[in-house]
Amino acid sequence: MARLPILQFEEKIVETVEQNPVVVVIGETGSGKSTQLSQILHRHGYTKSGIIVVTQPRRVAAVSVARRVAQELDVRLGEEVGYAIRFEDRTSERTHIKYLTDGVLLRESLSNPDLNQYSVIILDEAHERSLNTDVLMGLVKRLIKIRASNLKILITSATLDGEKVSKFFSNCPILNVPGKLFPVEILHSKDRPTSYLDSCLKTAIDIHVREPEGDVLIFLTGQDDIEKLVSMLEDRIQSLQEGSCMDAIILPLHGSLPPEMQVRVFSPPPPNCRRFIVSTNIAETSLTVDGVVYVIDAGYVKQRQYNPSTGMYSLDVVQISKVQANQRAGRAGRTRPGKCYRLYPSKVYQDEFLDVSVPEIQRSSLAGSVLYLKSLDLTDIDILKFDFLDPPSAESLRDALKQLYLIDAIDESGSITTFGRTMAELPLEPSLSRTLMEANEYGCLSQALTVVAMLSAETMLLQGRSKSTEKKRKHPSVDLPDGSGWGDHIQLLQIFECWDDNNYNINWCKDNDLQVRGMMFVKDVRKQLAQIMQKIAKGSLDVRTKQRRKENRQDYRNLRKALCVGYANQLAERMLRHNGYRTVGFKSQLVQVHPSSVLKADEEGTLPDYVVYHELIATSRPYMRNVCAVEMAWVTPILEKLEKLDTDKLSGGSAHIEEVAEIKQTEILDKKVDGDAVPDDRE
Ligand code: ADP
Repeated sequence: MARLPILQFEEKIVETVEQNPVVVVIGETGSGKSTQLSQILHRHGYTKSGIIVVTQPRRVAAVSVARRVAQELDVRLGEEVGYAIRFEDRTSERTHIKYLTDGVLLRESLSNPDLNQYSVIILDEAHERSLNTDVLMGLVKRLIKIRASNLKILITSATLDGEKVSKFFSNCPILNVPGKLFPVEILHSKDRPTSYLDSCLKTAIDIHVREPEGDVLIFLTGQDDIEKLVSMLEDRIQSLQEGSCMDAIILPLHGSLPPEMQVRVFSPPPPNCRRFIVSTNIAETSLTVDGVVYVIDAGYVKQRQYNPSTGMYSLDVVQISKVQANQRAGRAGRTRPGKCYRLYPSKVYQDEFLDVSVPEIQRSSLAGSVLYLKSLDLTDIDILKFDFLDPPSAESLRDALKQLYLIDAIDESGSITTFGRTMAELPLEPSLSRTLMEANEYGCLSQALTVVAMLSAETMLLQGRSKSTEKKRKHPSVDLPDGSGWGDHIQLLQIFECWDDNNYNINWCKDNDLQVRGMMFVKDVRKQLAQIMQKIAKGSLDVRTKQRRKENRQDYRNLRKALCVGYANQLAERMLRHNGYRTVGFKSQLVQVHPSSVLKADEEGTLPDYVVYHELIATSRPYMRNVCAVEMAWVTPILEKLEKLDTDKLSGGSAHIEEVAEIKQTEILDKKVDGDAVPDDRE
């Protein structure tokens, strides 16, 4: 392997870290920040006084980089070098270099606010501006005041926003690691293509036929498009006259690929063979694929956005920023001069692309983060004036407080409750944590754990492509007992229980179109959640796996009641004159039950008056996904709370939430197609 650029700066890095508590490291993607910084500091003795921890915004990157570092140090993964992502901890007592997702580090800081076990904290990929990394930046800024003598912080970024981060950390030093990038010729299309896939295909084939050897990296927006292009490419390449071109290997790359498929991109191709890597923006900076000489950039990325005034998520295909476009182009020049084919005119790049992408904190629901910050009891910090690199909008802070109040995590004056503290300890969205706690009261914790675990793994449960499988969900081949008409949560529970009855048989999953990997994950998550609940309850809970199955309506009723409490902020009321529901507690809006839902009307054809939902998602129209029927009597306390709601009081009276300047948004190409669950490759 060629010597990575960062290694030439080893002495300089060590010297700067030695003299400063915080250092910003800016270096081109692939320069070795993720894999080498931890090793450099390890070589210079920083693991003697504690563990070196490196955060990643994406699960895939945490696993892949840890694997690589273990390989380079010739140690077994999980021993000296390990990783921790949500629901998967591969570390041991001997671990001294630990990779983890930023969300996992945040949760660790709840039980150990000073993070004493760590001698160095590296916040990697800060340019991604993930919500959790942004919160961590505020947190470590506090931490260095407390642990100045024995903690080193490194913030790394691939893009040149170092000045801003340095300013945030009292003008800490910035180290620039120049990458040895070769020139990349940028070729813009004259017009926007009518079909991106066709245009990508044509460009890829042109390269394959005309250009000398070198791998091709193609950026698309998601799994569906990637799978389509992979199969189109396979067909076309096969039809090319044999012997007229070199061989080709076509590899997909996205967050939901099984790990053994993901690592395939790191194996070099055989001689006289060109690789086509068809990827989401995961290959933009998170993973560096060597050997790329040609990049095809369609100019879009799929972005999850949350609208705090409606409580609705959308998964929009938006234009990338200039910084992202340049990162993508840079991937072509790592080994020799390369070419980047941009499928958009240069005028679009100049006039329409934002300079930098909108940080996640400005397009996410903040309930989880606010709960977390509240539970830290930072008496010296007014929670709503927490020091963020870029502040979130006032509206989303109000929305977060409202949600936390409705699920009893904070009281009417905004103080965290005992319930809230327990919720923060669970690695789940606040609504699901609250459901578990309520289920425990009603004696149906075992079932609630199953539902929550099934929801955590939903995107990896079903075989095949998302759209067709959504249809299958509606007509599951699993022969389920009565009661699934109450909604999707009950059905998810029943699916798992059927598998349990079949002794977790792998063939049962296959026969029922369920992914074995997904179901095994559910089983594991369920077990882990049960252990965490046990720990919180100091061992006094009854969470037996094979709890007596009271598969009668009373049993499901308790579970639905618990869900209603947890989803108090995700409630909808049936519209009498319309065919649909109206959301409660938000700017009122008409929403529909998602077509994939198993929620059933009664014998008279009437749908339940009230439902709670897991997610409100804007596709071609606003849909509630994963819906559960609830009863009027359970809804009344929520309506009463909403009536009493006073957000000024919630925000602590004196602590007014300051309005921030309007958050710039980028042009939206189209809404995500119906039926897709919103993928979550974080944590
Ligand atoms: P940066 O963080 O600066 O983007 P990295 O440290 O991630 O850089 O990557 C440095 C080099 O290590 C790259 O050449 C990359 O291809 C290689 N690399 C990283 N992860 C793996 C892996 N899991 N397997 C093989 N090579 C890897």
